[in-house]
Amino acid sequence: MQTILNELAEIVGHDNVLTGTSVSQRSVDWFSGLACEAGAIIRPADTEELSRVMACCHAAGQAVVTHGGLTGVVHGAVTAPDELVVSLERMTAIEDIDVVGGTLTVQAGAPLQRVQEAAEEVDMQFPLDLGARGSCTIGGNIATNAGGVRVIRYGMMRQQVLGLEAVLADGTVVSSLNQMLKNNAGYDLKQLFIGSEGTLGIVTRAVLRLQPRLPSEQTALVAVPSFSALTTLLNLAARRIGLSAFEALWQSHYRLMTEESGAYPPPLATDSPFYAIIESQGADVEIDTERFQAFLEQALDQGLITDAVLAGSEAQRQAIWDIREDIEVLVKQLAPMFSYDVSLPIPAMEDYVAGLERRLADAFPEQGRLVAFGHLGDGNLHIMISVRDDRPESRRGVERLVYEPLAAIGGSISAEHGIGLEKCDYLSLSRSSAELELMRLLKRTLDPGGLLNPGKIFGASTP
Ligand SMILES: Cc1cc2nc3c(=O)[nH]c(=O)nc-3n(C[C@H](O)[C@H](O)[C@H](O)COP(=O)(O)OP(=O)(O)OC[C@H]3O[C@@H](n4cnc5c(N)ncnc54)[C@H](O)[C@@H]3O)c2cc1C
Repeated sequence: MQTILNELAEIVGHDNVLTGTSVSQRSVDWFSGLACEAGAIIRPADTEELSRVMACCHAAGQAVVTHGGLTGVVHGAVTAPDELVVSLERMTAIEDIDVVGGTLTVQAGAPLQRVQEAAEEVDMQFPLDLGARGSCTIGGNIATNAGGVRVIRYGMMRQQVLGLEAVLADGTVVSSLNQMLKNNAGYDLKQLFIGSEGTLGIVTRAVLRLQPRLPSEQTALVAVPSFSALTTLLNLAARRIGLSAFEALWQSHYRLMTEESGAYPPPLATDSPFYAIIESQGADVEIDTERFQAFLEQALDQGLITDAVLAGSEAQRQAIWDIREDIEVLVKQLAPMFSYDVSLPIPAMEDYVAGLERRLADAFPEQGRLVAFGHLGDGNLHIMISVRDDRPESRRGVERLVYEPLAAIGGSISAEHGIGLEKCDYLSLSRSSAELELMRLLKRTLDPGGLLNPGKIFGASTP
């Protein structure tokens, strides 16, 4: 390995080839805190350097794993001792903002929050938003096709990317920095890289789609008496307000985050079976606020909600969102715990969660505990399960309980986090053999030597 490290140091400079404790002190995984075991971390300054790095690795048959902000939650950035990390931490420039065309061109290592702030400075918004916004990078968001809390209004990362640039396994640069909404000149190549978890190429730059900044925002936390009321409420909100987020919290989640952990005072009593955080965005504060209040009153009259608290300030808005977004409280309360991100048809959700609770109680009497919440409108549930131990056999047992029922109801084992190393064994529950073979064909074609993110998505059977 020393020979290739010397060659790479010639390209990126000695200071940008990290070894020893500079590598092992990094954690590759936010949840598990797993230490980075890579042979070295290579930090190119730009696309050209990265292209030369990959050409060198290709010639030597050297495998690499791309690191962004390392907030991924499916072990997608795990790196073995004989692999190298390519980190995009020096590639963070916002290169261009075009207010007329509504685009922002950025290097892939830029943190999401910096992009959001840059858009706001020119009275625009970049609508992708998630709890890890301060650390996760645009490249990581693209590689995982990140979702978050605004998908219901603006779609996933896939919908926010107009063009991108990627470096292939052999160092070839594919620059597809399209700026237009419409471009049907042949295959839409950017889609190959979005959601491919760094297995087909390393994303280096992107043209992102901006939206006008909407100055008015209304946020409420509501108590909901039943699951059918929750889905009717979602439908009503979609028709009556400029809905921009609809997050459902099962009682198990709301109670844990408030009275049980003591982390946040409960804004509403904790005895309701469901809660929802509802947010709207619009152009006129007065009209939108009236409309939002009328919507809440109608929901109250129809028995869809039993109580509500409307945020009157940014601090109150944040206090509501903290209950949903502060994952650290969940981790602390439930540790050791397993975390799942699944999607399924909305009408099937209530029975799925209730069935899972039953099967968990049967399989792990006394110890099993489940907390559910998620992006209801997107059919996306996050489920945290603790069985009071994290031995591999317990993990496998719980995984089967969570994933196996999804195949029959047309659900997916991954809504927005990806497959990484964590879900490889279950991919066939959500993909047909023809789909899997086409995925393998793409992988073999673009990365015949299997140098990019080995083992991710396909597991040991990587083509
Ligand atoms: C508190 C918290 C809340 C979260 N909430 C959400 C949420 O609401 N919705 C959601 O979708 N996710 C969420 N996540 C998961 C995570 O933030 C996202 O998956 C994010 O997109 C990962 O970005 P990253 O830069 O940290 O990527 P990393 O963790 O560094 O990498 C993730 C994967 O992408 C690959 N990769 C990274 N950069 C590149 C690149 N430039 N080119 C090619 N491949 C690359 C890596 O090899 C790895 O396989 C959350 C995580 C945390 C910790």
